[in-house]
Amino acid sequence: SADGKKADTGGSFEIKLTGAVKGKVVTRFPPEPSGYLHIGHAKACLLNQYFAQHYEGKLLLRFDDTNPSKEKDEFVENILQDLKSLGIEADQTSYTSDHFPQLLDLAEKMIKKGFLYADDTPVEKMREERMEGINSVRRDRSVEENLKIFKEMQDGTEEGQKHCIRVKLDMQNLNKALRDPVCFRCNLTPHHRTGTTYKVYPTYDFACPFVDSFEGVTHALRTNEYKDREDQFQWILKLQREVLPKLPKVNIWEFSRLNMVNTVMSKRKLQWFVDTGKVSSWTDPRFPTVQGLLRRGLTVPALRDFILQQGASKNTTNQSWDKIWTLNKKLVDPVCARHTAVISEKMVPVELVNGPAEPQVETVLRHKKNPATGKKSMTKLNRILIDYADAKVLSKGEEVTFMSWGNCFIEDIKVNGAGEITGLVGKLNPGGDFKTTKLKLTWLADIQDNVNVRLVYYDHLITKKKIEEGDNFEDLVNTKSKVETMAIADGNCRNLQKSEIIQFERKGYFIVDEPYMKESKPIVLNYIPDGRTKGK
Ligand code: ATP
Ligand code: MG
Ligand code: MG
Repeated sequence: SADGKKADTGGSFEIKLTGAVKGKVVTRFPPEPSGYLHIGHAKACLLNQYFAQHYEGKLLLRFDDTNPSKEKDEFVENILQDLKSLGIEADQTSYTSDHFPQLLDLAEKMIKKGFLYADDTPVEKMREERMEGINSVRRDRSVEENLKIFKEMQDGTEEGQKHCIRVKLDMQNLNKALRDPVCFRCNLTPHHRTGTTYKVYPTYDFACPFVDSFEGVTHALRTNEYKDREDQFQWILKLQREVLPKLPKVNIWEFSRLNMVNTVMSKRKLQWFVDTGKVSSWTDPRFPTVQGLLRRGLTVPALRDFILQQGASKNTTNQSWDKIWTLNKKLVDPVCARHTAVISEKMVPVELVNGPAEPQVETVLRHKKNPATGKKSMTKLNRILIDYADAKVLSKGEEVTFMSWGNCFIEDIKVNGAGEITGLVGKLNPGGDFKTTKLKLTWLADIQDNVNVRLVYYDHLITKKKIEEGDNFEDLVNTKSKVETMAIADGNCRNLQKSEIIQFERKGYFIVDEPYMKESKPIVLNYIPDGRTKGK
């Protein structure tokens, strides 16, 4: 704008990190391996990558694996794959579990200083006390007692398992995140990396400040939906530094969590969809996961543009999918090949009285304006097939254009007893001008070479735009989020590769989900939203 001030919602290119020094900035992306990466994670890691590059610093990848009940190797492997798809390469990869020995040692030192205490207050009661600002009866235990119980916890004894360790901060602070947060819990579930070596695990709140500082992170990017957590991070780090004075300080830089309309993003909720079979897997095209979105036909450049356009706005956003699909369409349209499909459930044969009696095969560009897309064959014949939806709107005597062929007069429309159109008769008009016709129709010669395709149209999994407090997402599941239509397509489609994006003319953009294998198995293509229509 005129005064040189950029709106908060501007691109990320003018944002600065406080205290950033070129060449010295270290950022990190800390996913918990409890699910595949989703579009919100994509925002977090792209911002971290952006700052690392902008300040010629480093980007660390750290798997935040502190809860064995939720974490799996499968998730680690897929997160690595997702990062690769997004073009994100970390300078260094680590696991919070690499630091378990130091974290336990740190805890022991902090107990000795009186910073931590063991508590066996039942969960419900602890919650109540936290809400009301009441100290736990265990808060003033002696160091010896705390050390003894911590040891029991590490051994996973019955007594140990009843306890957790809490950080003694401030039970009366207005910021409830400072009311003695839990910092260690017992868990006997084997850990995906450390197996049964440990029976007690640090919480993210305790591990993160230490590991960030220890690994030399200068700027920890965090989502600001729980603003109170920033103070908690700094309070905990301050106590940790009293025990280990060499630990450097860490700057926190907040950004807004990305939410998408009609979408759940929490991994717990996504896991529910997988577990209940409401989606095929974490890569289901209806999922907001990186792999789901790519299977739906989103391109990585469109995803990056979308994220970077939002930049570093601090407003929590509930973004529309239309916006991202519109960006995607702009990138896809100029480069994707054109093919033809006719809905086979109810197609209509057209007899062309002056058309070629034998198939005439021509070679044409797969995209008229883009020779880089290569060539395809096109067959003309005196018997063609068109969509029922198109046949329905034709009237006798009307002149129409058959795309990439020419004009034609509709001479007859045959109808059965039920009033359904069973066939058309047309006469090609080679001298006709396509500019004079209202309808431009897609068609396929009625030949064996056509191939069966299944067109899959996906919709939102959630019926409500924004899930509000008090809503149960399980009650808001869209039960008609997948619709399939059988069609025939030009035989060239047998050559389409997995993940190739094409346009079926007048039907929209599609991505190949299952390429051609054999005649008895249709090619599967997913409809790619274009930001304007649902496609069906
Ligand atoms: P869960 O859904 O299980 O609560 P999480 O959101 O905590 O998971 P993590 O794997 O811990 O997921 O997140 C890794 C990083 O990605 C964190 O820095 C987190 O702030 C960020 N992140 C997660 N979700 C979003 C989102 N919707 N928008 C922006 N950043 C996000
Ligand atoms: Mg987390
Ligand atoms: Mg979370």
